[in-house]
Amino acid sequence: MTAEIIDGKAFAAEVRDKVAGHVARLKEEHGITPGLAVVLVGEDPASQVYVRSKGKQTVDVGMNSYEHKLDVETSQADLLALIEQLNHDPAVHGILVQLPLPRHLDEDLVINAIDPAKDVDGFHISNVGLLGTGQKSMVPCTPLGCLMMLRHHHGSLLGMNAVVVGRSNIVGKPMAQLLLGDSCTVTIAHSRTKDLAAVVRRADIVVAAVGRPEMVPGDWIKPGATVIDVGINRVDAPEKGAGKTRLVGDVDFAGCAEVAGAITPVPGGVGPMTIACLLANTVTACCRANGVTEPE
Ligand code: NDP
Repeated sequence: MTAEIIDGKAFAAEVRDKVAGHVARLKEEHGITPGLAVVLVGEDPASQVYVRSKGKQTVDVGMNSYEHKLDVETSQADLLALIEQLNHDPAVHGILVQLPLPRHLDEDLVINAIDPAKDVDGFHISNVGLLGTGQKSMVPCTPLGCLMMLRHHHGSLLGMNAVVVGRSNIVGKPMAQLLLGDSCTVTIAHSRTKDLAAVVRRADIVVAAVGRPEMVPGDWIKPGATVIDVGINRVDAPEKGAGKTRLVGDVDFAGCAEVAGAITPVPGGVGPMTIACLLANTVTACCRANGVTEPE
């Protein structure tokens, strides 16, 4: 293996320490405790794990965590009423509605009901527009975490060729906007891209956000490129015993690590950074709401 491993877990711990410092300052100097409300509808097991982890980490950095667990049958009107209540609650600075929602609920409508100033996931149409036009916004946590790791590793990204594989609203598109903002030359690839291998081979930076286990092989990677693997896929792991599973990313880690200059592992790469950025966004939202200078 030649690639440097970008340790998202360690970097996320640093980000959380900084967040804890800002929270302490807000409490001591301004008497304010940032608060994050997380809304979970239904009992999707993966979502329950994420929500628990978010709640724990929120409390660990000294913030208030408000968890709202709603029945899977919750009506759209009841969910919108809760969001309205949270929008007006001065103790709540960030609101996150855990996705995916049950099918009978309209995700776009629900997300766009959140006060954009409290939209710590950065999915509200106003924040999407602000990001797209280079204005101050709430930036989606997963791409923000990826950008922070890339900046930390490279310093400047100016002029680099970046290929983002995946065009979802929550990862691919905002990732591309952020890389463009840092003056990369950006290509967004998707399921209809022709000769994906050739497109990826041009990249100095590859961000894989596809949702297909180990789809990107090592021979697609330009030697020395940086590979950011957003994917989280659970696959069978018979080598660990009958019925056991393990997590893999969207890139073939072993194959890509032979060629890349740097690579994020799964787990321990993008995942921990996502939650750390959620905490950072909540502090940012709290500072903006209270006219306090926000962290860089
Ligand atoms: P989506 O399913 O919303 O989007 C996947 C994208 O990949 C689509 O744009 C799709 O193209 C594209 N795609 C699918 N198959 C191919 C293919 N064969 N070749 C090229 N492109 C393809 O997924 P998300 O963006 O929500 O998530 C992507 C991955 O990231 C998942 O594994 C998810 O679990 C993970 N994730 C991880 C997070 C973290 O914190 N680490 C947070 C969020 C997601 P098209 O649009 O044409 O269909």
